[in-house]
Amino acid sequence: MFYVKERINGGAEISIDITDENVFCRCPRCGSEVAVDLEDVLSSGGDLYGTSVFCDKCAEKMMRKRHGNGPKA
Ligand SMILES: [Zn+2]
Repeated sequence: MFYVKERINGGAEISIDITDENVFCRCPRCGSEVAVDLEDVLSSGGDLYGTSVFCDKCAEKMMRKRHGNGPKA
C-alpha cells in the first residue's frame, strides 16, 4: 500500500493511504478535478508524473473530434 506523507506547517506529520478514491488530477483541457485510479493509469502504461487524465466531458469531446477528423494528429 502506498501512502502520502506531509508535514503540516512544519509540525505534525500526517500520512494518508492512497486508494482508488483519494487520488485526483486536473484535467489538462478544462482544469476540472478528475478522480484517478492509479492502478488503472499504471496498468495502461502511464506513469505518475507524465500522465494527464482528461475529465469525462473532454475525453468525450476528443473522442468525437478524433472520429470526425479521421486519424489522430
Ligand atoms: Zn476537462
